[in-house]
Amino acid sequence: PAQPRDRLRVAIQKSGRLGEPARELLASCGLTWRESRDKLFCYGESLPVDLLLVRDDDIPGLIADGVCDMGIVGRNVLVEHDLARRAQGRGADLTEWRQLGWGTCRLDVAIDEDQEWTGPEQLAGMRIATSYPHTLGRWLEEHGVDAEPVLLNGSVEIAPRLGQADVVCDLVSTGGTLRANQLKPVTTILHSEAVIAGPGHPLDDGRQEIADLLLRRLDGAVQLKESRLLMLRVERPLLDDLLPLLPGGHEPTVMAVDGRDEVALQMLVHGSVSWARLEDLKRAGAHNLMVLPVEGMLA
Ligand code: ATP
Ligand code: MG
Repeated sequence: PAQPRDRLRVAIQKSGRLGEPARELLASCGLTWRESRDKLFCYGESLPVDLLLVRDDDIPGLIADGVCDMGIVGRNVLVEHDLARRAQGRGADLTEWRQLGWGTCRLDVAIDEDQEWTGPEQLAGMRIATSYPHTLGRWLEEHGVDAEPVLLNGSVEIAPRLGQADVVCDLVSTGGTLRANQLKPVTTILHSEAVIAGPGHPLDDGRQEIADLLLRRLDGAVQLKESRLLMLRVERPLLDDLLPLLPGGHEPTVMAVDGRDEVALQMLVHGSVSWARLEDLKRAGAHNLMVLPVEGMLA
């Protein structure tokens, strides 16, 4: 049996697209670390939370095997690992504890840009180059299409030109890489973003308490980052018509303005406030509109 551990171990990507944002997110929860000489391990100083810096592909396995307690990884990697483990008859027991809303991308099927797309049936009998054979396989099965995934761990987009495959199934964010290879995305098989992954069962040795504390801070940090304070003033008779135009967020606070038939309104908004929204509010009679970032919050 594994040795009892009273410190939480979090796996994040060592470099690559998710490594830096993951570290920033954890730092915004008040975590500080001392790095090991080889920079693969960070010992937590402010909380008993240590970081393991690894390749993203290893993160689900480290959690499933209990070596790490949670990790920050793309859903695409998590889903592929989960399906691969199930295919081997091993229960994976990994879940998404939180969705983080960044690192967003899609796992798309892409075909020759000169070809017409008529639907999934078109892929029957084709060789599809991908790094996600299980996720692709599940989608093909769901659509009753018999095709052949060709596993490639990199440079998937050039496979059609090399004659290794007919089409590809790859991660896309802007589509630039596909375009550069004369391919076009035609259908999405998975929407992905960075997630906090963890086991589906509670952690042992008091580590669940540390995890809960960290998750609470993470939720606060995420909420804070996405919050704005909207302030405006409006003549009292116009207030009722203005309320339906407000963006989503907390209940607005409406205050009388001394000596005037006017109110000041302030509200905490989820996400940013668009120019179009501000212009709508102004047309409805609002003035002195202001949108402010939020530095700290304690409900
Ligand atoms: P590692 O060396 O850790 O294995 P990697 O090369 O496999 O890194 P990255 O390219 O850093 O991985 O991508 C990490 C994750 O970033 C992806 O698994 C995916 O969830 C997300 N991502 C967001 N946009 C894209 C994109 N355009 N292409 C690839 N991945 C993207
Ligand atoms: Mg990888």
